[in-house]
Amino acid sequence: MRALIKDGTVVTASDTFAADVWIENGKIAALAAPGTQIGNADTTIDAKGKYVIPGGIDCHTHMDLPFGGTTSSDDFDTGTVAAAHGGTTTIVDFAIQQKGGAMRAGLDTWFAKAEGKAAIDYGFHMIMTEANPAALEEMAAMVREGVTSFKMFMAYPGVFLVDDQQIFRAMLRAGELGALITMHAEIGLPIDVLVQKALAAGHTAPVYHALTRPEAAESTGTERALALAEMAKVPVYMVHLSAQRALERVMEARDRGLPAYAETCPQYLFCTEDDLRGEPGGPDGEWKGAGYVCTPPLRPRHHHDHLWRGLRNYDLQVVATDHCPFCMKDQKELGRSDFSKIPNGMPGVETRLHLLWEGVREGKISMNRFVEITSTAPAKIFGMYGRKGTLAVGADADVVVWDPNREKVLSRETLHMRVDYSPFEGKRVIGAPAAVLSRGELIVADDKWVGAKKQGRGQFVRRGTFSL
Ligand SMILES: [Zn+2]
Repeated sequence: MRALIKDGTVVTASDTFAADVWIENGKIAALAAPGTQIGNADTTIDAKGKYVIPGGIDCHTHMDLPFGGTTSSDDFDTGTVAAAHGGTTTIVDFAIQQKGGAMRAGLDTWFAKAEGKAAIDYGFHMIMTEANPAALEEMAAMVREGVTSFKMFMAYPGVFLVDDQQIFRAMLRAGELGALITMHAEIGLPIDVLVQKALAAGHTAPVYHALTRPEAAESTGTERALALAEMAKVPVYMVHLSAQRALERVMEARDRGLPAYAETCPQYLFCTEDDLRGEPGGPDGEWKGAGYVCTPPLRPRHHHDHLWRGLRNYDLQVVATDHCPFCMKDQKELGRSDFSKIPNGMPGVETRLHLLWEGVREGKISMNRFVEITSTAPAKIFGMYGRKGTLAVGADADVVVWDPNREKVLSRETLHMRVDYSPFEGKRVIGAPAAVLSRGELIVADDKWVGAKKQGRGQFVRRGTFSL
């Protein structure tokens, strides 16, 4: 099985050049001068006038996640199919160690959710809800399984929150194992007090989700996580960084030479706190803001410029989505009379590249940086580089033919995520995948699934240890 993507412009994190991409047995076999004849291709894709880029890697998704009394509305079937339509060919989702349980049981639960369902390749991080001696020991077994990153929370007391000593012990252990600790760095204990006070004062609307989770809670948590990592002498990765001051803490750490990394998400670059206010006077009123409840919350608009600057200047390394959709009907509605009961999360796995390309069009980031933050950097940070994250001989042929002129209107009608609204309803974007290949197989063409198989074609990605 040999495929040829011809006459396109290859864009990697470092280079832009005209080349034909030859694919054999699911791997990239050659990048050749246009027109070079290497053999006969079974499939030829014309990429004239288009960019040929590595498939997107979304290293922060929550498919089929039980949370807030319900379950995220995309499972590994619908969520990965949606991802592929948007040009993402690998996700890294989160398995959960239940309190009092083994990580192995959590991993098996998530394997069962993904196997036979995922349409694209997938890996797992492990959420650690306690770092007791057994758990610290078990981290080694997870690393051997290719689960080489662990997520810990300073937020959600009673659910996910772990104290500083546990975080510190897990960091030391990660250092021994070559694993990476990723942090949700909002400090949840005072946030819960603000939430209680707001509710006691009768403030129940969605916007209070943002007003009770101020920027200070994220920036101080970020500083604390960075200090713990510095003391443990290990790298650390901040998930879903949303705010200027949290970014400044990461910048300071990086300026001191520390291996501090951070991701942000499209919602923090394109949505604002005002979205949480809904449409007072409109048909859905304030309630419309529930569709924008995610954590950390959306921030006032001036944060956008800081985050874009962080992406441009390498202070932020990755844009992932934190895809965690809940339908307005029956799910977000759980918080109709109490904002704290609105399930936290927004849909996003399908729209990441569409939205970020706007940053390329507006000159905020280069095409090469676009490829780096959406594919190459997550591959490197999370132990997949070489196999995923670039276009090079021997790499998996996860390839997107990106048409910079293709227009799309983002809408629940035009997108594939299993959720009954779009936070970007009606937004017109220019730039979209014309073709998406996963391990050499054309799976999406002209916004239609064309792969032979869908459910279950995705494979688990055993990731390597941290090596940056
Ligand atoms: Zn998340």
